[in-house]
Amino acid sequence: MSAEVRTTCPYCGVGCGLLAAAGEQRSLKITPDKTHPANEGRICSKGAALGDTVGLEGRLLYPMIGERRVTWDRAFDHVARSLRRVIDRHGPDAVAFYVSGQLLTEDYYAANKLMKGFIGSGNIDTNSRLCMASAVAAHTQAFGGDYVPGCYEDIDLADLIVMSGHNAAWTHPVLYRRMEAARKRGQRHVVIDPRRTETADAADLHLPLAPQMDVRLWNGLLADLIRRGAIDRGWIAAHVAGFAEMEQTLAEDDQSASAVAADCGVDQNDLERFFRMFAETPRTVSLFSMGANQSAQGVAKGLAIINAHLATGRIGKPGACPFSITGQPNAMGGRETGGMANTLAAHMGFDEISRDRVRRFWSSPGIAPKPGLKAVDMFDAIHDGRIKAVWIMATNPAVSLPNSTRIREALAKCPLVIVSDCVAETDTMAFAHVRLPALAWSEKDGTVTNSERCISRQRAVFPAPGEARADWSIIAGVGSRMGHADAFSWRNSADVFREYARLTAYENNDRLLNLSSLVGMTEEDYDQFAPAQWPLRTRAGTPRLFTDSAFPTPEGRAQMVVVRPKGPAEPLSLRYPLSLNTGRIRDQWHTMTRTALSPTLLRHIPEPFVEIHPQDAASSGVVDGCLTCVETARGEAIALARITDRQRRGSIFMPMHWTDTFAPSGRANATVSGPVDPTSGQPEFKHTPARIYGYRETWAGFFISRDAAQQPKGADIIWRRIPQAGAHLHEFAGRGDIAERELVTRALLRGAAGECIRFDDPAARSSRQAWIDNGRLDRVLFFGQRLPQRDWLVAAFAEETLSDDTRRFLLHGRAPNVALDSSPIVCACAGVSSRTIGAAVSAGACTLEAVGEATRAGVNCGSCRTEIARFIAEAPVPENRNAA
Ligand code: SF4
Repeated sequence: MSAEVRTTCPYCGVGCGLLAAAGEQRSLKITPDKTHPANEGRICSKGAALGDTVGLEGRLLYPMIGERRVTWDRAFDHVARSLRRVIDRHGPDAVAFYVSGQLLTEDYYAANKLMKGFIGSGNIDTNSRLCMASAVAAHTQAFGGDYVPGCYEDIDLADLIVMSGHNAAWTHPVLYRRMEAARKRGQRHVVIDPRRTETADAADLHLPLAPQMDVRLWNGLLADLIRRGAIDRGWIAAHVAGFAEMEQTLAEDDQSASAVAADCGVDQNDLERFFRMFAETPRTVSLFSMGANQSAQGVAKGLAIINAHLATGRIGKPGACPFSITGQPNAMGGRETGGMANTLAAHMGFDEISRDRVRRFWSSPGIAPKPGLKAVDMFDAIHDGRIKAVWIMATNPAVSLPNSTRIREALAKCPLVIVSDCVAETDTMAFAHVRLPALAWSEKDGTVTNSERCISRQRAVFPAPGEARADWSIIAGVGSRMGHADAFSWRNSADVFREYARLTAYENNDRLLNLSSLVGMTEEDYDQFAPAQWPLRTRAGTPRLFTDSAFPTPEGRAQMVVVRPKGPAEPLSLRYPLSLNTGRIRDQWHTMTRTALSPTLLRHIPEPFVEIHPQDAASSGVVDGCLTCVETARGEAIALARITDRQRRGSIFMPMHWTDTFAPSGRANATVSGPVDPTSGQPEFKHTPARIYGYRETWAGFFISRDAAQQPKGADIIWRRIPQAGAHLHEFAGRGDIAERELVTRALLRGAAGECIRFDDPAARSSRQAWIDNGRLDRVLFFGQRLPQRDWLVAAFAEETLSDDTRRFLLHGRAPNVALDSSPIVCACAGVSSRTIGAAVSAGACTLEAVGEATRAGVNCGSCRTEIARFIAEAPVPENRNAA
């Protein structure tokens, strides 16, 4: 193993510090960094599995124009010339960059500088638009800038945590671990979420509100606080504008607890309990994340939460603040550098003074005159031909944007699609005319900013493979060839960062984003940089903002903005009576390009699913565990039904991760309408009118092979690929006749060599065959109604030479007397399944500690502790437990 490198996790916005030690053949040992303030030695299942994801399989390693490998010289010339041609013919707004919260701050800075400073258009937007643009707009309206007031220490210090649309136990597990620790000293949790998530399960109170009723609920809270005299009128008078208008607006609606509870669809007693808890707890932190932001009224939701804190003066104080938690590792870096279409750079806008300031700083020949198109509008402009060239960096919009089938149409029509990524094949890469190989996480060198404004270093563990380059360096190469060599002459990432830090400090009298203490950093300082929170006028940084109750607005006051409840943007109808909500699961990240490389992570939830309330399932004829169609006005997705009362009646839930690569029919975002918030441009992912019905396949099968297979062309089937250790499992089902099955068979067995063992039972319409090549199992193809569990067959692929025993039982799908456990993995770290945990609980383990002792589950990263707690809670109470 090499020496440990101190770096930062590339997944969620918690921004955990990690220690990474490289071994032979790109093996990587990951441990949590005890010195990093974000995680203080904690880690989650995704971070812990990073070692599984750093191989070179599937990497894009060389620049490609079409199918031709080219040199970087040729690629830079081609991209620069092509962009220049589009700009000369159609103007700068015919070009767009769509970038990502996976980029480092240095990459973001370079991309924004090229687009807004040198191409002269505002058309650069980031996929963070999909994640927290509404919070950005809410902060800007309330505080005079995109300022996150709190810090993680506030979460430790709070006596009450309110989570609004935030399944922290799954989406930000390490932050949740901090809350679990605080609960031991009495911290209480309220979860406002239509779903009974793992976080809601463990909470003191869950309010399963109706879709898109958040503003009604938070306004109801504010009205209640006023009624009971729990607001801080003195503090409001001194530090808040707009309170009288908001108070007047509240009076226009019936704000009684009974009316609010009825509109929100929650129990009145529970609502009143929440109101009381909030009123009586000065140290309250209100966390909000994608569940609040991803809405056509996301800005209003953020403002409604902020209003409750402004009315009570709970901001800028230890343990008290509204707190937006970001989804991506560097969503904040994008906000800071101008990665969003509506900001210029370093938290400056498009006003004349800021434009002139940034133009002079960059020596720009023609700075963007106005904001550019936000993500959804940008792809509309590509679709209708206004944008003729798009450069997509480190993201997968063909999967992640709403109405993603239309996004694919847009990309297919676009005359020039450039994609820079580390992965060779993504759903978006399929549309690329030019593919540029970028560095992956373990090779990158730069900085990221987490949800609490903490800047940390990502450091390279491995050298650059093939000809892959840092994103900032690729952008600089193109910028130079476009005739701006002086502006893009950085030698390394430290150079880029220093320039960015200088811009934050440049003529800065009023912007909180100020890194002036980092302007003179040497390369050694940059290498050694320890995590610190901006503003960084001094190296000590600033953990908490607004401690002096002064806000950076012209009046020095925070603005309470009037917000009114609206309900869902698209009403339900007779045809589409259900509300589709999309979101994330614990062990997958974004579009699975990395996390699906870890078979262990895939064992938690291997396939796309749709959660349905039992009554909705019954009225739709949907059966638990069966393939189910989810249809909306935009399209259709097909996933396994999970019938559960954890889902609110009238609402269904699908995860957003699956792509063409893994489950072409399971792409949730193909069904999402995504009307956008009029201010933030953030699409509504949490409510699309939908209906469900059974897929009703006539045949099903599975195929296991050493290499990944593609869905056979011409077969209209439901296809899922689930990577395993040393093999790929493919599940499929169809509604066609025997000809469809034969087409699939021919495609999957093309090129099969060696010995074939086969058994057909035409009466049972089943067929089983196994191919053995050079003594090793090469392929297995089973069709039929009653199929065996796959684990034993998958394990047989690990045998270098098949034993006689294995060979004999291949067509059975398992050997006798071999105990099989195909139940989902709950604890990814120790590989402990739900069956093992269930058995431990049944045997009397009735605490987390006892289950941990019996199975090793939940004792490492702790990401699975809420699930284990559910097993314990749902287990029948043994007689002797009551006696004890
Ligand atoms: Fe990474 Fe998990 Fe920490 Fe998020 S909580 S930064 S995914 S280790």
